Amino acid sequence: MIDWEEMAARGGASWVESANDPEGGFPLDNLPYCVFTCGDRRHPRPGIRIGDFILDLARAGGSGILEGLDHSVLTACHAHTLNKLMACEPAALAALRERLQRLLHARADQATRDAMEVLLSPAAAATLLKPVDPPDFTDFYASLDHAANVGRIFRPDTPLLPNYKFVPIGYHGRASSIAVSATGVRRPRGQAKPAGGAPAFGPTHSLDYEVEIGFYMGPGNSFGEPIGIAQAGEHIFGVSLVNDWSARDIQSWEYQPLGPFLGKSFATSVSPWVVPLAALKPFRVPAALRAAGDPDPLDYLWNPDDQHSGAIDLVVEVFLLTPALRAAGAGPHRLSRANLRDLYWTPAQLIAHHTSNGCNLVPGDLLASGTISGSQPGSAGCLLELTHGGGKPIVLPNGEKRIALEDGDEVILRGHCRRDGYPRISLGECRGTVLPADACLPSIVR
Ligand code: CA
Repeated sequence: MIDWEEMAARGGASWVESANDPEGGFPLDNLPYCVFTCGDRRHPRPGIRIGDFILDLARAGGSGILEGLDHSVLTACHAHTLNKLMACEPAALAALRERLQRLLHARADQATRDAMEVLLSPAAAATLLKPVDPPDFTDFYASLDHAANVGRIFRPDTPLLPNYKFVPIGYHGRASSIAVSATGVRRPRGQAKPAGGAPAFGPTHSLDYEVEIGFYMGPGNSFGEPIGIAQAGEHIFGVSLVNDWSARDIQSWEYQPLGPFLGKSFATSVSPWVVPLAALKPFRVPAALRAAGDPDPLDYLWNPDDQHSGAIDLVVEVFLLTPALRAAGAGPHRLSRANLRDLYWTPAQLIAHHTSNGCNLVPGDLLASGTISGSQPGSAGCLLELTHGGGKPIVLPNGEKRIALEDGDEVILRGHCRRDGYPRISLGECRGTVLPADACLPSIVR
């Protein structure tokens, strides 16, 4: 008998050899979802990553190996996005995950392996598509270090506004311009006002990135019915990397009094992998400690379990590959490294706050953390902070300087979880290259 609980705790071995590399990032314990096409299978289909391969969930659903699972799950395996899977009951999804872990486990019999092997495609040969069509996109501002750093640039006297430590601040983003990793991002045009000059319209001179983690929602809540903080964490289907591209000159001219608008809405990149929340269980950690004198969260945002293990120990890194670095054969240069666990608010607090007024979340909604910055040098999650508002350019190993992204620059986000005794869990990458303002694009979304 396999002790599945023990296996989950230790990290199980798979008959897919590449899944057993403890540094590989895609072990049996991860199994992130994606949507892909491969070879002559040209219809987008859900898949899950195991080692160096993608398991075709559409074909698995038709092959009988998923027999007995909830009908909603089997139907969702044939959809063109993960939205339908996200609408399934968590218990039905847990059953799918357990079934797949059994089928892919090293102790699976030969007949099972033979039936599964034909459903695998090399990940390197697949085309990864936008995994979810989020009905809605909300971007939070949950890193106190980011809020304070940005505040110091714009308001040296009052870097942190008085509401910050009470209210999880967020704004309503655009879902239509969310694009999957590797989609080019055209330099946006917009209205800006140079210091001492008149407002003018043209390509942004201050293009920036923001490294964030996105939380995709499961079934969500009924209109008018808040999600309590005790249940809020269970409403997350999974997580992805998010790059909230930002045109700072447009943003700084337009943002008062109603917040970000066209300086953000031109593009948001997401990674192709959606890591199920279950894969992150070993990496749950206490909510970040609040400084002495900070207010306690109000009751609707406070829960003992959430305080005990509501944060996630998840490292995010940003790399920059410029055309000159690429031409010289150099690798991307790391700009920052920070951790999701340091956010001022936990994911459950963000969800409880979002729904506290009765606003309904629906399956596939994307809630992003906001820029993830830390308190240490080299942990700031955007160029605005790294360059102190453009006053101190960053210098790359080849001598190039940047205060903003230039055409041809590629921004690469990476994320992973690591803990002694457990295999590394990777979120993969979220890449995006800046294209000139006059570049032709057939469609930025797919
Ligand atoms: Ca943001």
